[in-house]
Amino acid sequence: MNTRSISLAAIPSIKIHPHRATPARQQRRWLATATRTVTAIALAAVSCSAARAEVTAPAALEPWLGKHTPQLTQFYKQLHQAPELSFAEEQTAATMAGQLRSLGFDVTEQVGGHGVVGVLHNGDGPTLLLRADMDALPVVEQTGLDYASQVRVRDDRGATVGVMHACGHDMHLTMHLGAVRYLVEHKEEWSGTLIAMLQPAEERGAGAKAMLADGLFGRFPRPDFALALHVAGDKPPTQIWYRAGYAMANVDSVDITIHGRGGHGSAPDTTIDPIVIAARLVLDLQTIVAREIKPIEPAVVTVGSIHGGAKHNIIPDSCALQLTVRSYTPAVREQLIAAIRRKANAAAESAAAPAPDIQVSEGTPALFNDPAVAERVIPAVRAAIGEENVVQDEPSMGGEDFGRLGRAGVPILMMRVGSVSQQRLDEYAQADGPPSLHSSKYWPDPEPTIRTGVTATVTAALELFGAP
Ligand SMILES: [Zn+2]
Ligand SMILES: [Zn+2]
Repeated sequence: MNTRSISLAAIPSIKIHPHRATPARQQRRWLATATRTVTAIALAAVSCSAARAEVTAPAALEPWLGKHTPQLTQFYKQLHQAPELSFAEEQTAATMAGQLRSLGFDVTEQVGGHGVVGVLHNGDGPTLLLRADMDALPVVEQTGLDYASQVRVRDDRGATVGVMHACGHDMHLTMHLGAVRYLVEHKEEWSGTLIAMLQPAEERGAGAKAMLADGLFGRFPRPDFALALHVAGDKPPTQIWYRAGYAMANVDSVDITIHGRGGHGSAPDTTIDPIVIAARLVLDLQTIVAREIKPIEPAVVTVGSIHGGAKHNIIPDSCALQLTVRSYTPAVREQLIAAIRRKANAAAESAAAPAPDIQVSEGTPALFNDPAVAERVIPAVRAAIGEENVVQDEPSMGGEDFGRLGRAGVPILMMRVGSVSQQRLDEYAQADGPPSLHSSKYWPDPEPTIRTGVTATVTAALELFGAP
């Protein structure tokens, strides 16, 4: 039995800051606090063991979720059936802009492409940004759900592709809408400025950058904090996972073209063979992480593609490699890129080949969850959904462009919310394991995921709005 969470100190939104509050606001807050306190004491008196979740989330949230989760689930299914690819989120953006307007937000559309920014002032206090992403993926859905996406579009090359919310961004939008709606309907529980950020093109690592370049932190109030949620496809929907500090990696792409001198396969002495140079380079690249990077620094160099030649007996003129390069710190990132350049140049030089072309595309910076924000938010979320349901995550070498907001100087926290029922997880465990995100077979269980995601977001927001 865990009785710790019934103490009033653990109720996250109970703090009062009279120095900021107007008399009327102060009175409303005291009333809200008193209601919560009475509820907490009453529930604690009834049953210590059952009281944990009920008494520590905002008192109004549980009944609110009971009333609104069916509508939010319907909204989710509509979004799920109308997915749009990165840079094409026109209808999704319009839908979200309309929802925010109806809630009283001051809404600006077309921020960095299809980005939407809603601003809602509610008295003095901190500015909090809640971010959700909007884009779907070129995947033909194979979930068999009655609300599965049937959408097909033509891609950049003219081919017909399926479109699916296979990364749960439709769920992010739904949880986002639920949380902001609760906050709008319970303005007496907080004070400050709420910014809703709906971001396009996350899957291309481009949307956050475009919104920042289009004045996200200049045309709108600069946030003191920013929060985001991402679904997890391998966790139950009762759980929130978090990682303070570095959670996701710098992601860089490197294209290397090795140039040689083509000729007949029977006369290698008359050629410079770019395939042999490339093969040597692939192995040499492995020594960067193994021999040059400090062992306690995470780093990855993967050659994901190598293409050269067309026929058995022709030595080609060139061979092309595509690399993904992952790291956490800016120093390791620079060290990796410099070493790749050096080794590619050296491989060419050792064969008396021309210098290779090396292109580094600026990717997504690492996602660094602000430890001070986590220190405030995580205990509040634990108190709201239960100690055992908030789990520390491992860091990952995946990428997420929400990290750009942190890189721009705003303390950020991205949490993950489980989305697959324990029963389904058990069934998957008997087979090949749960489908990963981006799989044509991934789907979240809407109701419990919405409930946990909205609870975590609201609790985190109320905690941060309580900042002095
Ligand atoms: Zn994704
Ligand atoms: Zn995603």
